[in-house]
Amino acid sequence: MGRKLLLDKAHIPGIRYYDTYKGNGGYAAAEKALKGMTPDQVLDEVKKSGLRGRGGAGFPTGMKWSFIAKPEGVPRYLVCNADESEPGTFKDRYLMEFIPHALIEGLIISSYTLGANTCYIYIRGEYAWIPEILEEAIADAKKNGWLGKNILGSGFDLEIYVQRGAGAYICGEETALIESLEGKRGNPRIKPPFPAVKGLWQSPTVVNNVETLAAVVPILNIGGEEYAKIGIGKSTGTKLISACGNINKPGVYEIEMNISVEEFIYSEEYCGGIPNGKRLKACIPGGSSVPILPANLLFKTAKGETRMMTYESLADGGFLTGTAMGSGGFIVLDEDQCIVKNTLTFARFYRHESCGQCSPCREGTGWMEKLLKNIDSGRGKMSDIDLLWDIQRKIEGNTICPLGDAAAWPVAAAIRHFRDEFEWHITHPEEAQARNYGLAHYADPREIAVPA
Ligand code: SF4
Repeated sequence: MGRKLLLDKAHIPGIRYYDTYKGNGGYAAAEKALKGMTPDQVLDEVKKSGLRGRGGAGFPTGMKWSFIAKPEGVPRYLVCNADESEPGTFKDRYLMEFIPHALIEGLIISSYTLGANTCYIYIRGEYAWIPEILEEAIADAKKNGWLGKNILGSGFDLEIYVQRGAGAYICGEETALIESLEGKRGNPRIKPPFPAVKGLWQSPTVVNNVETLAAVVPILNIGGEEYAKIGIGKSTGTKLISACGNINKPGVYEIEMNISVEEFIYSEEYCGGIPNGKRLKACIPGGSSVPILPANLLFKTAKGETRMMTYESLADGGFLTGTAMGSGGFIVLDEDQCIVKNTLTFARFYRHESCGQCSPCREGTGWMEKLLKNIDSGRGKMSDIDLLWDIQRKIEGNTICPLGDAAAWPVAAAIRHFRDEFEWHITHPEEAQARNYGLAHYADPREIAVPA
């Protein structure tokens, strides 16, 4: 069994409530920080841990925190990004819903480290039932002296507020989130200035995702160095993965970042293999925005090494044969799944969620959806595939925020790895319509040699 640091208490009945959480070692890390450590000492521990942002970008958390500006007399803010909207990703929801005090404790420690006296949890509107859970946890934490003025006699004050979003995916981008928090339309800002200098209300602000902030608790409990011993290379510690699609055991798993992709998919401890003896066709291991990997590239990297569940190994081979850990939404596709339909579903999502500020994203996402719709419905032309390729190339890197890239990458990877399936849809329109799925042309990847 892999080591659990975030979900180690998940099995305890009533862990959602303060007394149970506290009675099982909860708030020990917050007490350790506020009573016995300076903010710089906590920052050192987080740096030593090697913790990387768990929201998608994987940026080192300690480094991000050290960028926060400290002008005299200007408030600083911590914003917890709970706008978990990436298709296939639902791990933060699990933490907030079932172990909310783990997040509250992480927020207390992180705010103390940053010198932020106000913290906002910005939660996606669709998680309609969770704000109540969080507000109850905040009220209980306050009643027990973990929030408010002069917490534990440390001289540190903190209030936490929950703010609901209105259901826009783009508000997961940190500057759009800040705009929304200020009561405006959630349009991403042009950077620089970065939020660490001018964020919420033009004040220094750190925005981190739920899992990242909750991970600060075990880091303080076991120490940064111990945390860094788990995992491989720069992928340290444990990681929550929300697994879904064609697997026997969909759910949220905590993994040590030292297991292989094959083990994650096939072992009973995690996904439990593919249902009904079907063969694996492809996997999107980091949420809808990361490149899809065909089965023959999933278990071995381009260098022929075992592909591991780490930031580096998943990306190995770059865009040609790599993908990304992304937001931790692990989507498995069996041999019956249609890549064209799958790509169309994502393209439709990104077209709908584009805020419309940049022409390449606003226009390009619409064109990609139209072309994919044509191909899927049997009205496509061979030249549409090249046109799709051209459009995604013109979006990537030419937009204000990463949503443009997120829309382009799935299309690029699908064409790169499954061009024959796109062509088959065009040359066999009636068959494609009747079957309602694509080419089942990948055998078990363990039987296939990795192409050079
Ligand atoms: Fe808006 Fe898309 Fe531009 Fe991002 S890339 S700012 S979502 S138009």
